[in-house]
Amino acid sequence: MGSPGTRTCRDWQWGLAVAALYFGFALISLRWVQSPFGIAYIWPSSGIAVAGLLVLGRACRRPIVALVALASIAANLAGGASPVAALIFSLANVAEALVVVGLSRFDRPDYGRFESPAWVLRFAGAAVAGGLLSGAIALLGAGASDPLDFAISWITTVVLGILIVTPAAATFLRWLRGERSTSARVSPLTRYALLAVTLGASMLTFGQTDYPLLFVPLAMVILTTWLLGVEGAVVSVFVISSCAILATGMGIGPITFVESDHGEIVFLQFYLLVLQISALPLAAMLSETRRKEASLTEGKRLLETAEKIAHVGHWRYDLAGETVAWSAEVYRIHGYDPSRLISLDLAILAYLPGDRERVRAQIARSIELGESFSFDARILRGDGSVRHVHAKGDVEMCEGKVVALFGVVLDVTEKALALEELQAAREEAEARAAEAEHLADTDQLTGVPNRRKAMAVLDHEIARLHREDAPLSIILLDVDYFKAINDTHGHATGDTVLRAIAQAGVECLRRSDVFGRIGGEEFLAVLPGTAEQLAATIAERLRAKVAALDIPDLHRDGVSISLGVAQFRPGADATWLLQAADNALYAAKSQGRNRLVLAA
Ligand code: GH3
Ligand code: MG
Ligand code: MG
Repeated sequence: MGSPGTRTCRDWQWGLAVAALYFGFALISLRWVQSPFGIAYIWPSSGIAVAGLLVLGRACRRPIVALVALASIAANLAGGASPVAALIFSLANVAEALVVVGLSRFDRPDYGRFESPAWVLRFAGAAVAGGLLSGAIALLGAGASDPLDFAISWITTVVLGILIVTPAAATFLRWLRGERSTSARVSPLTRYALLAVTLGASMLTFGQTDYPLLFVPLAMVILTTWLLGVEGAVVSVFVISSCAILATGMGIGPITFVESDHGEIVFLQFYLLVLQISALPLAAMLSETRRKEASLTEGKRLLETAEKIAHVGHWRYDLAGETVAWSAEVYRIHGYDPSRLISLDLAILAYLPGDRERVRAQIARSIELGESFSFDARILRGDGSVRHVHAKGDVEMCEGKVVALFGVVLDVTEKALALEELQAAREEAEARAAEAEHLADTDQLTGVPNRRKAMAVLDHEIARLHREDAPLSIILLDVDYFKAINDTHGHATGDTVLRAIAQAGVECLRRSDVFGRIGGEEFLAVLPGTAEQLAATIAERLRAKVAALDIPDLHRDGVSISLGVAQFRPGADATWLLQAADNALYAAKSQGRNRLVLAA
C-alpha cells in the first residue's frame, strides 16, 4: 500500500495507459478503417475511454479525462482535422464517455461486469445517449456539407465503438490489473484455444471474398459465450469485429459483396451490432443463471449443514404424484441409504408398530381437514436401533385443496432417553419414600401400624366426624398376664404371642378399620362408621379368637386379652375417647380379665 503520493502516481500511470490505447486505436481507425466520408466505421477509442473510467475507479477519473482529451486532440490533428475541429471533437469524445459512465452507474461492484441483463440494457441506453450528445457537439466542429449524414455517421460509429469495445477493453484492463476471471469453469488452455479458433474462424470468414461465411463468427460467439460466459462473449465479439472492420476497410471479405460504399458501412455496422446484442445479453443472462444456481447450491449446502447440526430433517409429500421427498438429514435419522426411494407407506412403516396407526391417523386427518399436525413417535432404523422423533408440519393448499404436506422431523432421542431416565429415577425415589413412610408408620415386631400411625388415624377419623354424621368406636386391648408369659416361656415366645394377636386383630377387622400396636402388649382398633354395639360384637369375636389361639411355644398354656370398647360422643376428643376405653379396659381387668367391657 503506497502513500497518497504514489497512489496519484499510479492513477496517472493508468490514465496514461488508457490514453495510449485510445490514441493507438484512434490512429488505426483514422488510417485504415475510414469510410469515404472521412469518418471511421467504428470509433473504438470511445469504448476504451469508457472502459478506463469504468474499471479504474473514481481516483483515476481525472487523469483519464485529461490524458484522453490530449490523445483525442493529437489523433484528430494527425487525422487531418483543423485545431479547432480537433478541440471540439475531443470535447465531444470526453463528454460522451462521461455521460455513459454517469448514466450507466458503475457505483455498484457487480455493475460494469456485464453480468446482469438489466444493467447491460441500461449500459446500451447510456451508450446511445452518449453518442447523441457526442454527435451534437461534433457537428459544431465539423462544418459538414451534409450535417444530418455527418451526425448519423458520427453517432453510429461512437455508439458502436462503445457497445463493442467497452466490454472487451474493460475485460482487458481488469486482466492487466490482475483481477481473476469469474468464469473459472474452464482451464486457461481451453480459453486460449477458443481464442485461437475464434481468430482463425474470423480470418477464414473475412480474409476471403469468395464465400459469404458470415454465420461462422456468429456460431463462434455462441460457442465462446456458452463456454466462457461474459468474458467469452466480449472477447470473441471484439476479435471478430476487429477482423471484420480491418478486412472491410482493406476492401476484402464477404461484406464487400454489398454494392454501394454507404450500404457496406451500414451492413458492417448492423452486422457487428447484431453480433454484440445477441452475445452480451445472452452472456449476462447465462451468468445470472449460473450465479443463481451457485447461490441455490450454497443455500442448499447451508441448509443441509444446519439440519445436520440441529438433527432436524424436512420432507414433503406430494399428493398428486404420491411422491415423498426426504432431506439428507431425514435419511440420516432413519439410517436409510440416501438413494432409497421413499413412498408414504414406507415412511409410515418406519415407525414402530405401536406408534404407526397414530401417525397414519394424524397424517390422514391433516390431509382431510387441511390442518397442521404434530406428534412424537419412535422410528425403527435400518440398523434395528430406535430413534425418538418429534414431527410437525402443515398442508400446502392450492385453490382450496390440499396438494401437499410439508413437515420437519426432529431427532429427540437423547432428550427422550434423558426423560425416561428421569422418570425412572423419580419412580424409584417415590417408591423409596413410600417404603420409608411405611417403615415409619409400622411396628417392626408385628407389622401392624405403630402407635404414631394408629393415633394419627384416630385423629383423622375424629376430624372427619365434624363433617360427616357417623358413629366411631375404638377397642383398646391388653394381653393378660403377659409378664408371666415372658417369665415362663421366654421373651421370644412373648414376641410370638404379640405377633399372633396382631394377626388375629387384623383378621377380625374390616378393611376400613385400623388395628395398631400402641404399647408393649397393648393394641388399639379404630372402627370408623361403627357404633358401640357392633364394636362390642367385633371385640368379642377378637377375644374369642385370641382365647382359641394355639401357640405351640406356650406348651398348652393359653393366652387371653382384656378389651375396653368406647364410642365417640359429640364434643369429645381423642384423649377423652382413649381414656373412656382405658377405663373400660381397667374394669375388664378388675372383673377377672379375658373379657370386654363397654365404656360407661
Ligand atoms: P396384666 O394382666 O395386668 O396386664 O398383667 P401383665 O403382666 O400383662 O402386665 P404388665 O404391664 O405388668 O406386664 C407387661 C409386660 O410386657 C412387661 C414387659 O416385659 C412385657 N413386654 C413389653 N413389651 C414387650 C415386647 O415387645 N416383647 C415381649 N416379649 N414382652 C414385652
Ligand atoms: Mg399392659
Ligand atoms: Mg398386660
